Amino acid sequence: MVDRDPLPSWGRGRVTLLGDGAHLMYPIGANGASQAILDAAVLAAELAAPGDTPAALRRYEAARRPATTAIVHANRDMDDAERAIAVGRDENKAGAIAGITRNYRAVVEQRHGIN
Ligand SMILES: Cc1cc2nc3c(=O)[nH]c(=O)nc-3n(C[C@H](O)[C@H](O)[C@H](O)COP(=O)(O)OP(=O)(O)OC[C@H]3O[C@@H](n4cnc5c(N)ncnc54)[C@H](O)[C@@H]3O)c2cc1C
Repeated sequence: MVDRDPLPSWGRGRVTLLGDGAHLMYPIGANGASQAILDAAVLAAELAAPGDTPAALRRYEAARRPATTAIVHANRDMDDAERAIAVGRDENKAGAIAGITRNYRAVVEQRHGIN
């Protein structure tokens, strides 16, 4: 249960990061491992493409860093919102939680082009 601010970059030259090393996030969205797998898929595709390794790593980072940054923030927002409901007097807690989950899914699915 460790959360860190998104990094401004993941590496330079022939060095990069992947998974929790790149984008540690609260597991509240159940997304850390799945994002690490998506990192690996994009990284493999970019390394297999023609061109040099540093350029492939920069394309990988350009594809994955904005997406995972948005999910780190969405996890925090969901955590904050669920805690507020837990201590509040909201009569419709189930409805409020469903709304929070809907908003979270919208962020994740938008980042991955899922409709
Ligand atoms: C309580 C909890 C629940 C979670 N639930 C979910 C979930 O439902 N869905 C989901 O998608 N994600 C979930 N996650 C997040 C998920 O576990 C992580 O995002 C994921 O494991 C990250 O994978 P990784 O390969 O980047 O890092 P890790 O899985 O941490 O792998 C890193 C590996 O490197 C090894 N290592 C470290 N230092 C060295 C060294 N010097 N030399 C050699 N090896 C080293 C470690 O032993 C480890 O095996 C959860 C996390 C927690 C804590």
